Amino acid sequence: MFRAKEFVKAASLEEAYTLNQKRSNIVLGGFAWLKMGDRNKQAAIDLSGLGLDTIEEKEEEFSIGAMCTLRMLETHTGLNQAYGDIFKECTRHIVGVQFRNCATVGGSIFGRFGFSDILTCMMALDTYVELYKGGIIPLKDFVNMPKDSDILVRVVIKKDGRRAAYLSERQTKTDFPVIACCVAKDHERWYVAVGARPYRAVQVTFPADETKSSKDLAEKASSEFTYGSNLRGSAEYREHLAKVCIRRCACKITGGEA
Ligand SMILES: Cc1cc2nc3c(=O)[nH]c(=O)nc-3n(C[C@H](O)[C@H](O)[C@H](O)COP(=O)(O)OP(=O)(O)OC[C@H]3O[C@@H](n4cnc5c(N)ncnc54)[C@H](O)[C@@H]3O)c2cc1C
Repeated sequence: MFRAKEFVKAASLEEAYTLNQKRSNIVLGGFAWLKMGDRNKQAAIDLSGLGLDTIEEKEEEFSIGAMCTLRMLETHTGLNQAYGDIFKECTRHIVGVQFRNCATVGGSIFGRFGFSDILTCMMALDTYVELYKGGIIPLKDFVNMPKDSDILVRVVIKKDGRRAAYLSERQTKTDFPVIACCVAKDHERWYVAVGARPYRAVQVTFPADETKSSKDLAEKASSEFTYGSNLRGSAEYREHLAKVCIRRCACKITGGEA
């Protein structure tokens, strides 16, 4: 069980950051993951009063507050129109609507979970995280940084004309994915992110003019990742699924044959 002696509703990011420097304190996102664990903390730091629960669409980017829920990603018209419904697709399998109304973008991205559909989806786009002290960092660098006590303020996704598609494979509905795959394309490059390998998502890119077909992309890209085995599937099975999902995503983007 998770226990905290105090619940502190932070009045500012500075207050949240200062409190979070103590190892005995912890920041809460939607508390959906943390509550599953067994921890004793002094203070639980709540960010819900800091106005971080909006998705802003600007001319050049989407700015997504850390306290936005997964349901907000799933139902946001602008985001889904811009990137081919990938936010709907990457969230809709996660537990259920009530859960997705609680779990946050901040908790999902800061957690850097290997199984994360959200991380995989955002990794194929031109995505940045804004940290209170650490500033703005590309997501693909942030995932490899050691976990520290900074506060994730928002996620920024640039509107750079990428079209995208997302697919995951699960053993059973609402389970963690066995593989998660997001493919995006602009005029020059393909961007392929695969997560739940079962390792956390990474991105590889290929020049569009050197990629002959969706099959070619799938073969090249799937062989760039490392895969592991766990109770959900073997490394070989995951590699096979990744190849199929990448190809199907690429076909969806180009309107080609699946
Ligand atoms: C039963 C279950 C099934 C799930 N299935 C899936 C799935 O299939 N696919 C998938 O992608 N995800 C899945 N998830 C994960 C879920 O989508 C969220 O990623 C997860 O719950 C974390 O989000 P949260 O808001 O609950 O964060 P919390 O549990 O509140 O926090 C998670 C971690 O992030 C830290 N944190 C939170 N917000 C911030 C912030 N702004 N700045 C700094 N640190 C912060 C916390 O201190 C904590 O260490 C599942 C989770 C559960 C419990």
